[in-house]
Amino acid sequence: MAGMLYLVPTPIGNLGDISQRCRQTLETADFIAAEDTRVTLKLLNYLGIKKSLVSYYEHNKAQKGNVILDRILAGETCALVSDAGSPAISDPGEELVKQCADAGVTVCAIPGPCAVITALSISGQSTGRFCFEGFLSTAKKSRREHLEALVTEQRTMIFYEAPHKLLATLESMAEVFGADRPISLCRELTKLHEEVIRTTLSAAIELYNQQAPKGEFVLVVAGAKPEEKPAATAEDAAARVAELIASGMSRKDAVKQTAQELKLPKNAVYDAALK
Ligand code: SAM
Repeated sequence: MAGMLYLVPTPIGNLGDISQRCRQTLETADFIAAEDTRVTLKLLNYLGIKKSLVSYYEHNKAQKGNVILDRILAGETCALVSDAGSPAISDPGEELVKQCADAGVTVCAIPGPCAVITALSISGQSTGRFCFEGFLSTAKKSRREHLEALVTEQRTMIFYEAPHKLLATLESMAEVFGADRPISLCRELTKLHEEVIRTTLSAAIELYNQQAPKGEFVLVVAGAKPEEKPAATAEDAAARVAELIASGMSRKDAVKQTAQELKLPKNAVYDAALK
């Protein structure tokens, strides 16, 4: 019988965030597939777990994915971890999940630390509707294209960013979204120097021109405001009055109702209707 693939989230800073279930899964799995075995070894030492590790990362995933899948199909249980946070979210794992699912292997994701959700919940921005945009490209042109595709996005937008690229990203965002767009910069979450700066794009640029950004960042950017409908014109008012009169309403009532519907002064509607 085939084994299983477990996706095991690990702390994004505070080691206390490892859950009982994650710990048990790491203990009971036959082997652990890790993004960087040295990073995972430190976590396992902290947890007092000894386990066989295989590396699974961006540049060996094509070949290692098959090896891992074969072991699972032969009956072993694999726990997949990344360096920090949830595997498969801007981290290796997406392809392995697809491979396992295609082969009929059960995949079980354990909920746990994830920088995008931690940042969104603490951001103070609207959380009802959001989109996760991952990392922007380092190349200016494609970074700009990515942002331009989001110019009318009304949902809260979440980005991962490295400190050395932060200023360039903020500048591109200010050019595309406007300098006044609200942003929450969530830094070093769950760590000693955790900080959330709720500000605007222009103020963030000013701040990080004065002090170099340090640590890990998640950027939570407010969505675009819904476009205001263009104000109704005299022609709109005249057409609506005519329509209401044709349906049997008196001119006086038609003017009154049109003024209410189109949010125009009654005398302006009356004049428009006369013309
Ligand atoms: N899969 C991970 C997750 O679910 O959290 C994300 C991995 S991605 C390679 C790493 C990026 O996540 C960092 O560049 C940063 O943008 C964000 N990140 C991770 N830990 C963070 C933390 N403690 N505080 C702020 N951002 C963090």
